Amino acid sequence: MHELSLAATMLEQIAPMIKNKRDLRKVTITVGPLAGVYADSLQFMFTELARVEGYPGVELIINSVTAKVKCDSCLVEYEAECFETVCPQCAGISRTVLSGRELTLDSIEVEEEHV
Ligand SMILES: [Zn+2]
Repeated sequence: MHELSLAATMLEQIAPMIKNKRDLRKVTITVGPLAGVYADSLQFMFTELARVEGYPGVELIINSVTAKVKCDSCLVEYEAECFETVCPQCAGISRTVLSGRELTLDSIEVEEEHV
């Protein structure tokens, strides 16, 4: 249900940016691997919700980024692809997240009006 409320929030953000809901074609977002979001699930929820809300032709593009974390034990910084990634140096799982929790709306694409 988390993904569903995210999808709803995204549509709320997008709504004021466009004139005609039917013209919305593409929404691009970036999701960090530590944002706690399942991309597949979000994609599905967004597409379903968008159709119900009156955006029949929209496609969601999800860019993934790697997270940067710092090991709490040996203080090495490494990239984490998911929550399960352990420290490559000491195999510790206690770490401080430096980046990777973001979920940002990058761009929207609207079909141009043909004059
Ligand atoms: Zn470590």
